Amino acid sequence: MTDTAYSERPGTGPFAKLKFSDPDRTINGEQRAFVSLKRLETFWINTGTLCNIECVNCYIESSPTNDRLTYITAAEASAFFDEIGTLGLETHEIGFTGGEPFMNPDMLAMIEDALTRGLDVLVLTNAMAPMQRPRIKEGLLKLRRQFGAKLALRVSLDHYTQKLHEIERGSRSWEPAIAGLDWLSENVFKISVAGRTCWNEDEEAGRLGYEKLFKARGYDIDTSDPGALVLFPEMDDSADVPEISSSCWGILNVSPNDVMCSFSRMVVKRKGEDRLSVVPCTVLPYDRSFDMGATLSESLAIDGGCFKQGAVKLNHPHCSKFCVLGGGKCSASE
Ligand code: SF4
Ligand code: SF4
Repeated sequence: MTDTAYSERPGTGPFAKLKFSDPDRTINGEQRAFVSLKRLETFWINTGTLCNIECVNCYIESSPTNDRLTYITAAEASAFFDEIGTLGLETHEIGFTGGEPFMNPDMLAMIEDALTRGLDVLVLTNAMAPMQRPRIKEGLLKLRRQFGAKLALRVSLDHYTQKLHEIERGSRSWEPAIAGLDWLSENVFKISVAGRTCWNEDEEAGRLGYEKLFKARGYDIDTSDPGALVLFPEMDDSADVPEISSSCWGILNVSPNDVMCSFSRMVVKRKGEDRLSVVPCTVLPYDRSFDMGATLSESLAIDGGCFKQGAVKLNHPHCSKFCVLGGGKCSASE
């Protein structure tokens, strides 16, 4: 679970009709910014959108009933791992996100497959009941013993207080998440935490709050490390956001190489479709205009629409709000 959510094309307010309509030009006629794939460092697998809970602002609208993205199988994941090898893509990390990945029946097999190939694995989880089933715990312990810190888990804890965490995730969601984190910590897994920045407190105060919690519970997580405590900006589908033109990079002092689609891709399996779809990032799982083909090979060659010789044109409000202006990234290596 990356923990964020979407409709087909967010931004349905009056500005959205004009902005983000031409893949090549912004509303002012400037060249729309685009991002080239520099190196496929992290390949994400969306394991399916089903989740054991339903959070208020889940970016992917996961729930116990949302199966718009269905479970990917170990065989399908394996075909992508093969492709990474045959294409010589230098990918070092496989990320698993959902939904809740541990609801996918093939989850342990997919993790083991990636680790056996020498890849690092990052699993985004809420650490609640699906992860805490005895079969999963046994499997995780076995993998940890065999592969050590090559296996990392990132647990979503929306705030360091039970009260605010449960505003987002529902009542009785705090204690199971803490129990999952306790278990991971006690068993020396490599863990990180994902939180949100929507609580009207500055980042420094937020990091200090998490630091106190982690210290009290004995978690070995460096809250000053943005890769160990990842704080995500909120995504508001109805907000009016500026478009990003090519000239914005210099003005904002942001490099295209800092944006997730310069170093990642994700595969999703849409319900009722017989082809898988590669998309640029974890942030845009549903918008079909960002589909790049059924294989990594197809995705590298795509041109036209939202793509420019394999580069991604930033023609979506989330490109501005979350990535360029918000600094959102999803990789463990960031
Ligand atoms: S735990 Fe919440 S945010 Fe994460 S996938 Fe499930 S519903 Fe979404
Ligand atoms: S939301 Fe847009 S800018 Fe951000 S990673 Fe995805 S395609 Fe790139």
